[in-house]
Amino acid sequence: MKFSERIMKVKPSPTLAITAKANAMKAQGIDVIGFGTGEPDFDTPRFIKDAAIRAIEAGKTKYTPAGGIPELKKAIVDKFRRDNKLEYTISEVTVNCGGKHSFYNLAQVLFDKGDEVLIPAPYWVSYPPMVELADATPAIIESKEENGYKITPEDLTKAITPKTRALVINSPSNPSGATYTRKELEALAEVVLAHKLLVLSDDIYESILYDGLEFCNMANLSDELKQCTIVLNGVSKAYSMTGWRIGYIAGNEEVIKKVEIIQSQSTSNPTSIAQWASVEALLGDQSVIAEMVTSFDRRRKLIVHGLNAITGVTCLMPPGAFYAFPNVSGVYKLPGWKAIEQKYPDKNKSSVLTSYLLQDAKVAVVPGVEFGNDDNIRLSFATSDENITEGIRRMKEAIEKLA
Ligand SMILES: *Cc1c(COP(=O)(O)O)cnc(C)c1O
Repeated sequence: MKFSERIMKVKPSPTLAITAKANAMKAQGIDVIGFGTGEPDFDTPRFIKDAAIRAIEAGKTKYTPAGGIPELKKAIVDKFRRDNKLEYTISEVTVNCGGKHSFYNLAQVLFDKGDEVLIPAPYWVSYPPMVELADATPAIIESKEENGYKITPEDLTKAITPKTRALVINSPSNPSGATYTRKELEALAEVVLAHKLLVLSDDIYESILYDGLEFCNMANLSDELKQCTIVLNGVSKAYSMTGWRIGYIAGNEEVIKKVEIIQSQSTSNPTSIAQWASVEALLGDQSVIAEMVTSFDRRRKLIVHGLNAITGVTCLMPPGAFYAFPNVSGVYKLPGWKAIEQKYPDKNKSSVLTSYLLQDAKVAVVPGVEFGNDDNIRLSFATSDENITEGIRRMKEAIEKLA
């Protein structure tokens, strides 16, 4: 079979692959502790499920407008006003089949061959492939651990070329949890305006913030910045609705129209039932979010303290999201490391470590190289306190065997 050049450039999502591997081991009766998946472990709140059931009973089971039902668009507009102090009209928002699909559609609509899209590392695994699927070029900007894995205006300026079209900002970040303050965004915004860049602001973790940190995005800074920012969000992370597949976009009306064209010719509408459930999620009792964040906060401290107690591992306390992104480069220097590299050969050290942890310690983590940082691994702490305690114990034992 001859395949397109497009698909030959793209590999499957590594986070989904690791979860599949861990699940296969579990199915064989092996007791694996999974820190792989990037999704909340809570059930979708009852009142949201009830809204979906009501939608089914009421026969809301047919095609909807490609860009979503007016009720959901209105709920999104209300959400932006309530949570973000941002004013959008109905025609400036659209609904997609998950936040990932929102980004995919935007890339298809905005980018061409030759266009460069700036992606700060560590980045969400899906940004570069989605940019490549639009025939454009991902341009990675390295960040430093001492800057909390955030890029500076100097880093940004250095990465800009005449071909640069857009900058992706994901704050709080998957995988590092890094969260930009208003001040830091203002500094980056000067560069954005000077070079007339578009900003794709992926706000999917906006509500998962700790220590009273306030959320801010580029669109919040000024009208001028709101004009050049497209905001992406969704219900997956905030309401534990990953399987429902609802994401949304807000921004320039022309862009929204084009996204709706591509959607009308590809997926048609997002699932009608999930849209009705999302109306309820966005307008209903928001205290469900705070409850989840309280649990995440406790687990965050548990996992980060545990990781920092392992020889060769250092971990920053993530200010947002539900991932720990420890630096494990010290493990690569332990006396027993060479033998591990021989046992699990791979050109990337974080992949070697991940194989060792999965096979020998029965702990599933994601290699940092998939996010652009081979000195790190990613652990999702959206799992129980017991799993965290036992998983960290196993990791500590396996790693300190190498010392
Ligand atoms: C989970 C996630 C999304 C969106 O997920 P969907 O389930 O497709 O809505 C978007 N961006 C980042 C960085 C994520 O981690």
